Amino acid sequence: MNLPWKQKAQCWGKTTSPSTDFWYPEDDDPNRINKIKIAKSYCAICPVMSECLDYAIKNDEEYGIWGGMTRRERRKHKRKKDYDDKGQISGLV
Ligand code: SF4
Repeated sequence: MNLPWKQKAQCWGKTTSPSTDFWYPEDDDPNRINKIKIAKSYCAICPVMSECLDYAIKNDEEYGIWGGMTRRERRKHKRKKDYDDKGQISGLV
């Protein structure tokens, strides 16, 4: 997966260790909610949030937090048809 924008991400290098990977909590993880909150706090200040969310929606990423959203939130966002004719997300940030 070649994602040049990823190197500017707040999560860059943090998802390689279980102790710092807040973006992919297991469903049965008792700290799941807290991990998601932490991940989203990083995403909120991420300079590539828009690119990240756009990528995840276009590629139907099933797992993890992308662009500050869970899979369920991404699906809901996609259903709102926030894409313009160029396939770019509008109304974000
Ligand atoms: S928006 Fe969140 S998941 Fe996406 S690159 Fe930034 S920190 Fe990582």
